[in-house]
Amino acid sequence: MVGSSPMQAMLTAPGVKDRKVLAFKRDALKDKDAVSGLLRSIAARDAVRSAFYVFDLARVVDLHRGWRRALAGVRPCYAVKCNPEPALLGALAALGAGFDCASRREIEAVLALGVEPGSIVYANPCKPEAHLEYAASVGVNLATYDSEEEVAKVKRCHPGCELILRIKGPDGGDVRVDLGTKYGAHPEEVVPLLRAAQRAGLNVAGVSFHVGSGASNTDVYRGAIEAARGVFDAAAALGMPPMRVLDIGGGFMAGPAFEEAAAVINGALEKYFGELPCVEVIGEPGRYFAETAFTMAARVIGKRTRGEVREYWIDDGLYGTLSCIPMDHYVPRPRPLAASRPGEKTFTSTVFGPTCDSLDTVVTGYQLPEMSVGDWLVFDDMGAYTTASGSNFNGFSTSDINIYLAYSS
Ligand SMILES: *Cc1c(COP(=O)(O)O)cnc(C)c1O
Repeated sequence: MVGSSPMQAMLTAPGVKDRKVLAFKRDALKDKDAVSGLLRSIAARDAVRSAFYVFDLARVVDLHRGWRRALAGVRPCYAVKCNPEPALLGALAALGAGFDCASRREIEAVLALGVEPGSIVYANPCKPEAHLEYAASVGVNLATYDSEEEVAKVKRCHPGCELILRIKGPDGGDVRVDLGTKYGAHPEEVVPLLRAAQRAGLNVAGVSFHVGSGASNTDVYRGAIEAARGVFDAAAALGMPPMRVLDIGGGFMAGPAFEEAAAVINGALEKYFGELPCVEVIGEPGRYFAETAFTMAARVIGKRTRGEVREYWIDDGLYGTLSCIPMDHYVPRPRPLAASRPGEKTFTSTVFGPTCDSLDTVVTGYQLPEMSVGDWLVFDDMGAYTTASGSNFNGFSTSDINIYLAYSS
């Protein structure tokens, strides 16, 4: 880390340093009230008439500190797909994080910040040939795999690459997004996959898994770490060079669930990897660093009154950054930006997104006070799988949504 404090390092980081950073006070107030004040001051400017975000950099510093406290021995390699905002990438790089990239563009974005290629894991088990050749050309030399075809392709396109075998952890996790239906070697596939790499002359440097995004049963980490140890032993039994990387993937949520997961992980690392002190343990958190640091304000652009029911149109929706509703099972609980008045009457309301598709509906049967065109609705915890997966459908472009950088203290 450069600079004398995490905050200074962050404010001078690539992706941040040439942008304006708005300071605001967290006070003794609840976080959400404090950020509302900042949102109001932005919305009050004449020129601001469409949905925007506030990204609180200080939140990332706090989360990074929390990670280091709870998982001291595990280097976070931020999963870029969760939210590729350059200021977030730059901030995390300044804090010393590595990166999980899944494509050429993601690798380019991270290298552009001055990150060493050795701090990048190419963590997409199935990679297009051209992207692999690009990784070879820039020296990103560590990539995951979970199929024999991938071994042959890596051998062909990037023969200097080392591999990480991605395994499917045990079932039983109650997760928001399950990745195990698509990725991860099954137990009976492990030895054939190790042998395939051995035959190809590619080194298998370690093992990875991903328990699923938003894991609420933290016990799944223990089972996955135990299974990973089994793979280390299988490789040794095949006479392969000792593995040196354990990648515990992502799935973490900020808050008490994180502390719980960390306790389970630390216990399992001690139990299954305590006698292998040379193993470097890394993680691939995405949601953990991004989700709570971003707040979105959408503008009411239309209204219809049908008896007691209120219908509103806002300028972000399911094809925009609220794509987290279908893609990430985000549960929207929008709140009016205007301060609530005591005893204020509420109405059963529907909130639509701006596109002409009726699927583009944000909430229905939702209680809101009377609102007018030009009012704002606030969506909290909007950093994970939001801006990253929006589209330009119907001419409403996700990239038109401004992100203001802020620093709370
Ligand atoms: C999506 C993904 C992550 C990040 O997952 P989170 O649940 O956001 O932490 C990490 N690793 C891989 C391989 C992924 O595909």
